[in-house]
Amino acid sequence: MAIYCRNCGKALNDDARFCSACGAQMYYAPPPLYTGASRLMRPRPGRMIAGVCQGLANSYAWDVVWVRVITVLLAVFGGGSGLLAYIIFWVVMPEEPIALPPPAATYNPPSGS
Ligand SMILES: [Zn+2]
Repeated sequence: MAIYCRNCGKALNDDARFCSACGAQMYYAPPPLYTGASRLMRPRPGRMIAGVCQGLANSYAWDVVWVRVITVLLAVFGGGSGLLAYIIFWVVMPEEPIALPPPAATYNPPSGS
C-alpha cells in the first residue's frame, strides 16, 4: 500500500517521511477523535427517573431493561452501590439538550362571530 505525495502526487512508501520527487514533508492525519452521537448523556425520551439507564443503554447499545434490572439489583442487594452509581451518573452525565420545537404555525386569528 502506497501513500501519495500531497504536493506532486507521486506514490511513495508507507514509511516515507519526505517525497522523493519534490521533497515535501509527509505526515499522517491523526485518527479522528471519538466524538460520536453515542456520547454519554441522559436522553429525554424513554427515561424513567433521570434517564441514566436509558443514556447508558443508548451509549453502549445495551438493552435498557437489563441496565435497569442490574441497577435495581445493585441498589437492593449491593448495599446501595447501584443507588450510589445512579446518583453519580445523574450528577455527572449531561442532560440531552432540548430539541428545538418545530417552527410555530402561522397565527390564524379566530374566525367567526
Ligand atoms: Zn512530491
